[in-house]
Amino acid sequence: MLKKLPLWAKIFLGMGLGVLWGLIAVWVEWEAFTIDWIEPWGTIFLKLLKMIAVPLIFVSLVKGISSLTDITKLSRIGYKTILIYLITTVFATTVGLTLVNVVKPGGVFPEEKQEEYRQKFSGQIELRQESAREIEERSPLQFFVDTVPDNIFLAAGDNSKMLQIIFFAILFSLALVLVQGEKTQLVMDLFDGLNDVILKMVDLIMRFAPIGVFALMAALVVDYSGDVGIFTALGMYMLTVAFGLMFLIIIFYPLVIRIFAGIRIKDFLKGILPAQLVAFTTSSSAATLPVTLKQVINEFRVSRPIANFVLPIGVTINMDGTSCYQAIAAVFIAQVFGIDLTLTQQLTIVLTATLASIGTPGIPSGSIVMLIIVLNSVGLPVEGLALVIGVDRPLDMLRTVVNITGDSTVASMVARSENELGYHDPVEPA
Ligand code: ASP
Repeated sequence: MLKKLPLWAKIFLGMGLGVLWGLIAVWVEWEAFTIDWIEPWGTIFLKLLKMIAVPLIFVSLVKGISSLTDITKLSRIGYKTILIYLITTVFATTVGLTLVNVVKPGGVFPEEKQEEYRQKFSGQIELRQESAREIEERSPLQFFVDTVPDNIFLAAGDNSKMLQIIFFAILFSLALVLVQGEKTQLVMDLFDGLNDVILKMVDLIMRFAPIGVFALMAALVVDYSGDVGIFTALGMYMLTVAFGLMFLIIIFYPLVIRIFAGIRIKDFLKGILPAQLVAFTTSSSAATLPVTLKQVINEFRVSRPIANFVLPIGVTINMDGTSCYQAIAAVFIAQVFGIDLTLTQQLTIVLTATLASIGTPGIPSGSIVMLIIVLNSVGLPVEGLALVIGVDRPLDMLRTVVNITGDSTVASMVARSENELGYHDPVEPA
């Protein structure tokens, strides 16, 4: 019977059983067993997803771009994609900012806890401050400098250099389109075949997902079991972030996709669920990319060229959940420290949170360093990080879900606007 269950149901089951196992393990003191014998399966699953991420991004981008043989169409899609990504991110930041100003979670934070957290997390903050300082000292153009690899093999060896891979892939495919002819047909066919093979690998990896997800959840519960006090003190803040993120997931994206892509809300929520579950458990939108691609192509019927182009770029630059979260966290910290933010400061937060989310890598806790930059931009105390860092993981899980849902929404919108929605070219036989 278990075999007949759809994948999303198996992943759900894995997640639920993982939480259950974690709770029981804490209760009967099997923590060490869980960490030694269960967690490694979660780590293997995560590594499998990361392993496939670089080849997948490269091959799918080349395939996506080179199949758009018309250069004007290509640049039109490029502009459209970036513009919609930006608009949704600014919207998400504004949602966060509005919520935190209305709810004011910082107002109910117990004062005596402040010092306790500051001491507990001071070490972690120093490390991250160092990285933030390095980023801030760079030239404003450093982002573009960093996008160009000086050695493509080194870039391919480092998962944090996804943007460099994307740059190389775009240049490579443009050249491929420009020299089209008999000679390059071979290269095109090769990428065509490679794309199918890699997507099949994704499919095989996903069969392991329920077990991987079970292990990740069990380990998470065990890891966090000692920190219940933190959760209660920061409950209001967590609820505010969770509310903002859930609003985006349940109301904003489904409405946008209904209006601008004509996909039924029910179909959207059902189709994206497996990718959301993987995003939730792995906390990494880059690691989730293989599943996101598969769902968007198979369930929303976005044409492969569009999905292959829009999604890998989204994973690296479009993080709506992250920007919404950063706005809430920054203002929450200001509220706890009793600092009133002017309108200009609030607008600066919208700007820096948007930019910071573009620079955030799609990895677990990728945005914590970037949050320091947002705090610095309006002169808020970086020590405030101590307040939010302890409860970051669950919020990270949720914002990663938003990040990949946003990417999928935009991919469907772009496909619809190009009349490339409704394709039936499944990644694996349906
Ligand atoms: N974990 C997030 C992601 O992968 C990034 C972050 O906000 O920390 O999308």
